[in-house]
Amino acid sequence: MSELRELYQEVIFDHNRHPRNYGPLPGANREAQGHNPLCGDRITLRLLVDPEGVIREARFEGSGCAISTASASLMTEALKGRRVEEAEALFRRFHALVTGEAGEGRGEEGPPLGKLEVLAGVRAFPSRVKCATLAWHTLEAALRGGGTVTTE
Ligand code: ZN
Repeated sequence: MSELRELYQEVIFDHNRHPRNYGPLPGANREAQGHNPLCGDRITLRLLVDPEGVIREARFEGSGCAISTASASLMTEALKGRRVEEAEALFRRFHALVTGEAGEGRGEEGPPLGKLEVLAGVRAFPSRVKCATLAWHTLEAALRGGGTVTTE
């Protein structure tokens, strides 16, 4: 188990140091900002959703702690090629994973969480859950028409 934990930390470290899909997205048609005042994390998320409702591109910019940056990086990787409904289902499952709540999303049919599971460890640190979910709340805002979300 500790070997697995080390691997997880390595993935988070790597995505924080070298965030995937970081930068502007010319031609984006969905955009939202997220702010986690508790930690100071800020993110701007941009998406390119095609007329069939498939997320073709996802990119983010901003600054934040290692958890929020790694989470945004892993999220943008997981979103590409997904239908909007699949992305929403992923968010519900991810939320259940990091909060440890057996609520909505747990056991739901849908795309596997895959690499996103490395963030399960934040469960033990309630204040970091908001860091891990910031990008996802921002995604929800972007899919619902934009604006700014704050975790408080
Ligand atoms: Zn944070």
